Amino acid sequence: MGEYATERARLRERLAARTDASDRVLDAVERVPRHEFVSDARASEAYADRPLPIGDDQTISAPHMVAVMCDLLAPEPGDAVLEIGTGCGYHAAVMAELGADVFSVEYHDSLADEARARLARLGYDVRVRQGDGREGWPDHAPYDAAYLTCAASEIPGAVLDQTRPGGTVVAPVGRGSQRLTAVTVGEDGEIRDRTDHGGVRFVPLL
Ligand code: SAH
Repeated sequence: MGEYATERARLRERLAARTDASDRVLDAVERVPRHEFVSDARASEAYADRPLPIGDDQTISAPHMVAVMCDLLAPEPGDAVLEIGTGCGYHAAVMAELGADVFSVEYHDSLADEARARLARLGYDVRVRQGDGREGWPDHAPYDAAYLTCAASEIPGAVLDQTRPGGTVVAPVGRGSQRLTAVTVGEDGEIRDRTDHGGVRFVPLL
């Protein structure tokens, strides 16, 4: 596993104890070099299971949250997955380790540029574009699954429309108090089932 092998193995054990995530998801988390997604000053904290600041009031999501969301989405290798909120690109890297083709939209230009460069340098084939995630990314639709890493009062209609019937969308829903919500998209692009996965705290959708 190379650098931080002990820390990574320990993180995997913590996540196995704390979540119901599958071995496949735990393996993917273990493989991603999270220290590459934070500043050098934070590298020693990179394998703690908590969010960390990455500058500009933004954070890198906690590993358990990434694991729980990846587990709910359960992408098959080759699935096209839409992400809203690239941030530093960590979650997208875990998705890519699961074999998904990730298309990610980030509102902040500088974050989009940095994440694109970082993911490419680390060998992750993730497409990143600057834009408003409310509009999704129509060019590569339909997606097999989609998720938001920023909270909205409701899942944007464009994201549901761009997900194929039977596909899953996972998002923190709510302003103020948020619930991690998973929905299945029906034939008509409407929400078919909706399940609640507990209280969460994400930055709001801008
Ligand atoms: N996925 C990240 C966490 C991202 S934090 C990780 O792996 O750790 C949420 C991100 O959503 C921030 O980078 C923020 O700039 C972005 N964001 C907020 N509103 C957005 C919008 N309307 N469209 C796209 N991205 C948005």
